[in-house]
Amino acid sequence: MIPTKGYAAQDATSDLAPWSFERREVGPHDVQFDILYCGVCHSDLHQIRNDWFPGIFPMVPGHEIVGRVIKVGGHVKKFKVGDLAGTGCMVDSCRTCANCKDGLEQYCANGAVLTYNSLEKYTDGSPTYGGYSNTIVVNEDFVLHISDKLDLAATAPLLCAGITTYSPLRHWKVGKGHKLAVLGLGGLGHMAVKFGVAFGADVTVLSTSAKKEGDAKKLGAHHFVVTSDAGQVEKVKESFDFILDTVSAPHDFGFYLSLLKTNGTHICVGAPLEPAKISPFAIIGGRKSVAGSAIGGIPETQEMLDFCAEHNIVSDIELIDIKNISEAYERMEKGDVRYRFVIDIATL
Ligand code: NAP
Ligand code: ZN
Ligand code: ZN
Repeated sequence: MIPTKGYAAQDATSDLAPWSFERREVGPHDVQFDILYCGVCHSDLHQIRNDWFPGIFPMVPGHEIVGRVIKVGGHVKKFKVGDLAGTGCMVDSCRTCANCKDGLEQYCANGAVLTYNSLEKYTDGSPTYGGYSNTIVVNEDFVLHISDKLDLAATAPLLCAGITTYSPLRHWKVGKGHKLAVLGLGGLGHMAVKFGVAFGADVTVLSTSAKKEGDAKKLGAHHFVVTSDAGQVEKVKESFDFILDTVSAPHDFGFYLSLLKTNGTHICVGAPLEPAKISPFAIIGGRKSVAGSAIGGIPETQEMLDFCAEHNIVSDIELIDIKNISEAYERMEKGDVRYRFVIDIATL
């Protein structure tokens, strides 16, 4: 077994604290890489607090993981020692269902194995532990190639915030001629702005935080609307083809649906637990759709990373010492994230 240092929550009410554990030995198809940076996703906070379901504790969060390969198994073909490597939200899936065969492992009919807060259901049943740790062992099929052209720390958030926004924009073919509203300017939202602009859409940020306007424009957004300002909202009524909803807390869908034009689509990626209340009248008039999307499959994640390397797209980050993780969570909860915290694992 491989002795590993990390930060874990011991239960749903305690703060993260140093914790030592073991990872499996490197198997024939495994890659071991030392973690250099790990992004902090709002999903980490949802999960250590049991927002979605009772979690598996101790829990080591983190699914925006980048680092350098230190060991590969005998059958590994895609990686060698010294390569940069990354892992996102999944570390395994059944490989046999129709979705897995289509490269949509996130929708695996038998259940993907998540990077943490999950069980290795296709191997030994052991719990998985995430990237707030110094090293990780992952089957090579779930390890991504990371370009050395980009700032490595700022690349980490692409593994979740990046792919979660890239995938729906590609699926719905959002681009030139479309008016895209990005709802919520946080980790996911700021990546959605960058991709929306790169794909040629006319991008508006819908935000509760008036003070983020300058940042939104710097990120490339064409317009900015503070959703508490009735005058600003009135001007964008029935105007968007797509809303990409990245909000982490309960919110009023009827209000946002009124901003879609006829045939518009509201795409949920934000994941508050509370069921959305939607009146049929909010979607009947204007033939509107409400849709959802989860991260992205492994082939599309690699495509997104390659796209980012080619177009020089990374996340805007605040690099933190792991000792300050609780403070980062507090700020994230208040919507005060500019625009992704990334842990410098050297501080572990
Ligand atoms: P984040 O950085 O905290 O950003 C969320 C943003 O939502 C905030 O910055 C804020 O932006 C806005 N917001 C917060 N509370 C709000 C409220 N009550 N009403 C309206 N807007 C509000 O979080 P994140 O890491 O981007 O994650 C966002 C959500 O996506 C989380 O629920 C996360 O679990 C989920 N997620 C889903 C997937 C997936 O596969 N579908 C993947 C990753 C994450 P403003 O200040 O601009 O209003
Ligand atoms: Zn995430
Ligand atoms: Zn499957």
